[in-house]
Amino acid sequence: MKIKLIKIGKTPIDFEVKSDEITFKGYLEYDSGKLILLRANLSGFTLCECSRCGEEFKLKVDEKIEFFICDGVFDSDASMDLDVVESFDSTADLDELLISELELIKSDYHSCENCKTE
Ligand SMILES: [Zn+2]
Repeated sequence: MKIKLIKIGKTPIDFEVKSDEITFKGYLEYDSGKLILLRANLSGFTLCECSRCGEEFKLKVDEKIEFFICDGVFDSDASMDLDVVESFDSTADLDELLISELELIKSDYHSCENCKTE
């Protein structure tokens, strides 16, 4: 699912995309300048490798996601500490964002049930 950034105004646009057992659901809203705010919830289950034994297991995901999408290059103002993703085709590619957020979560330390109880 791709949304053209130019279509996003002050009225939030809802979206919902799914990948296997993960749902990425939230809205996009115009903020200021070239910035679009994305606020969403990532929930469901994903296969993840245990950081201790290397076994794959199902990880329960329930994360609040909030960042800005910038239409083009983000001129970072040193006074602002924002979480910004740059878009170079003036669209918000929600499937791609879902995957990158999921990869971020998976790269954290997670241990499977067996390793937790030891
Ligand atoms: Zn383990």
